[in-house]
Amino acid sequence: MQNVTLNNGVEMPILGFGVYQIPPEQTERAVTDALAAGYRLLDTAAAYGNEEGVGRAIRNSGIPREELFVTTKLWIQDAPAQDNTRRAFETSLTKLGLDHLDLYLMHQPYADVYGQWRAMEELHREGRAKAIGVANFYPDRLVDLVVNNDITPAVNQIETHPFFQRTADQEVMRKHGVQIQSWGGFAEGRNNLFTHPLLSEIADKHGKSVAQVVLRWLIQRDIVAIPKSVHAERMAQNIAVFDFELSDHQMASIATLDTGASLFFDHRDPSVTEQFGARRLED
Ligand code: NAP
Repeated sequence: MQNVTLNNGVEMPILGFGVYQIPPEQTERAVTDALAAGYRLLDTAAAYGNEEGVGRAIRNSGIPREELFVTTKLWIQDAPAQDNTRRAFETSLTKLGLDHLDLYLMHQPYADVYGQWRAMEELHREGRAKAIGVANFYPDRLVDLVVNNDITPAVNQIETHPFFQRTADQEVMRKHGVQIQSWGGFAEGRNNLFTHPLLSEIADKHGKSVAQVVLRWLIQRDIVAIPKSVHAERMAQNIAVFDFELSDHQMASIATLDTGASLFFDHRDPSVTEQFGARRLED
């Protein structure tokens, strides 16, 4: 597996397995299958409600902890954010059955972001989270966080797929040493991604699937990808992307698919802020 090196020296696989929308009762099996397929980066979140299943699959796999890269995410906390962030972190670790995380991400750029970040900085200094980062931060908010805090986020996990490519945002992240990670790399199949004519044509040329072309395109842009699937054969397909290369011409033709707009929710839209900003998790 190819790795990226984060801004604090931590090595992170460039391809992993995401578990958003996998129901809790299916998660242990799905993660067990993903580990058997060779995935070592697992991406979950307190808000997904399936950390326990991820933890059971890890324990039952027998894979040494140091060979795994486990990410979970902090949901929006009420004040006092520093205390509540620490409590949320401990709850996630208990559910996962782990004593440390490889990456802890702030899931949303809302509420007391600075209080949450200071608590995450402490957890990082204590060695409980080997790296800390954010998700869904647009460049203005990301740079504000960077310039006003001690620790620069190691990662920003954002919606990135052929229809929303984030090229300019990636440049800002590169400038500040923040690794871009794609969520929704397949746009969850929206816009008929898996049968898109241009992507299908490129896939046919390589004897690969559209899914593999999309993952290869992300990897060649130095973007960490975390495709989700509940099907073992797709998990195997999605990790078999290190034996071919897209040409410059193919990369350039995929670049023409960018619409520059989210297919899900734009975190700068006040109605999205209202919708997410008001949501709290039950422990
Ligand atoms: P995604 O990976 O873009 O798409 C998943 C969909 O693609 C599922 O419907 C899956 O179906 C299908 N699929 C997977 N492999 C396929 C293949 N080879 N051929 C055809 N269909 C295939 O969507 P996502 O789960 O939203 O994003 C990936 C991960 O990013 C999440 O799991 C989560 O870890 C993370 N994420 C983070 C945030 C955030 O706010 N930070 C938001 C969303 C997601 P089956 O499962 O039926 O195979």
